[in-house]
Amino acid sequence: MAPRPVLATCLHGVATLLLAAGAALAGDRTSGVLGAGTPFETRWSAYRADEPGPTVVLTAGMHGNEPAGARAARQIAGWTVASGSLIVLPRCNEPALAAERRRIPGLDGDAGDLNRHFPPDAAEHAGDQAERIWEFVLAWEPDVVVDLHEGYGFRAAGSKSVGSSVITSRAADHPRRAMLLEAVNADIDDPERRFVALGPPVAGSLVRAASERLGIEGHLFETTHASQPLSTRCRQHRRLVASLLTDLGMADDSAGRLVDPAERRGVLALFDGGGTGPGTARFEEILPLWRVERVGPADIADGALSQFDALLFPGGSGSGQARALGEAGRGRVRAFVARGGAFVGVCAGAYLAMDNYSWGLRLIALDSHDREHWRRGKGTVRMELEAAGAALFGGDAGAVLDVHFAQGPMMVPAQGPPPDDAPERTAPEILARFVTGVGENGADPQMMVGMPAAARAGYGAGRVLLFSPHPEKTDGLEPAIGRGLAWAAGTDLVR
Ligand SMILES: [Zn+2]
Repeated sequence: MAPRPVLATCLHGVATLLLAAGAALAGDRTSGVLGAGTPFETRWSAYRADEPGPTVVLTAGMHGNEPAGARAARQIAGWTVASGSLIVLPRCNEPALAAERRRIPGLDGDAGDLNRHFPPDAAEHAGDQAERIWEFVLAWEPDVVVDLHEGYGFRAAGSKSVGSSVITSRAADHPRRAMLLEAVNADIDDPERRFVALGPPVAGSLVRAASERLGIEGHLFETTHASQPLSTRCRQHRRLVASLLTDLGMADDSAGRLVDPAERRGVLALFDGGGTGPGTARFEEILPLWRVERVGPADIADGALSQFDALLFPGGSGSGQARALGEAGRGRVRAFVARGGAFVGVCAGAYLAMDNYSWGLRLIALDSHDREHWRRGKGTVRMELEAAGAALFGGDAGAVLDVHFAQGPMMVPAQGPPPDDAPERTAPEILARFVTGVGENGADPQMMVGMPAAARAGYGAGRVLLFSPHPEKTDGLEPAIGRGLAWAAGTDLVR
């Protein structure tokens, strides 16, 4: 892995970064808090380039059940611009986001819908937060306002939802809107999932108010949360915003990136393309010391892994994840680890790393055993820590722990030769072994006894750590994921 300044300290880290990137010292980043001391308290950030240019204010997170906007805005908050100013307020409605509900908790109908409160001096239900946001927008004297949202269905497929649309405040033939649609649709093969033009924005929305009161350009970008992973939706928001900045003459080569290089935490790519199960969000809850971003096959194809320290494949389907990645994507994952990246696989993600599948990444010299009985069942089993596992995860060698198991792989030493083109693979080290098993659909529960539950090895300059069971879904064992990641990434982020 290329040396990254993310784990260096503060000001030295920033200076090192700028010099290492060969960038001239330019522009000025500021940030602050809106609504300090209230339930809506939230951070904003602003980047002002030395070159004059337009001012764009980007807001997101108005509706708490539309996570892609807030996530994309957090990513965009790390961008710089070549001219003008980019101001980002990623989480306008913190209580609703925390509750994962559309409305402000405790308020029904339009009273709870923050994006019906603008402008606050005219809106029937306007509250303090609408006033704060409105004053914030006014203070920056923007030329363009953009607000990121999500709908529940694809408009192009006939849904009543505004999902997958660009809603623009001015005339129906606004030239920038056509450009935006072309840019985002370039990535979308299915005609029923393509973005369409809509407008004007609904009365009471921030963008409508900005258009009518300030006479400025405004857009709502709406992704669709039905049947699309978060990584896809965030990518679409980033694509739209990057295209807008390019068209305004503001974009620099930071446009599109997921993580600010000045991020000081370890940076984890959490795969959520095809083949990932519903429990993926759990990893975000248990890794507070990591900056976690969802990454999908299209991001990996673009080379996004170069922004990350570690890559985690969660539960789901190993073959499904492999299929989603495709041959080229699997090659990019191998190259990421070979160059020093960290790979952690849990259950399906461990299958993905095995040697004896045609689609396996072959990152570690382990085969999947008793493949015909992979549907061996789910439930709590027990595992015993080996000395190396005790040292890594904490506890005593020989300690026996309950752990949630869901048809993870039975890992045995690889029978075949190592792959021709692989870098050096060190011998797998077993961290824990099952001492009880489950057996459904013809599987023998006794066969699991003694099988590795967790193992690790080196792959080129990188490290690989696999869990057959699910520590992240086991009360008290969650820290094992962070400790495994810290080892794999070679950081000292042990806790
Ligand atoms: Zn919305």
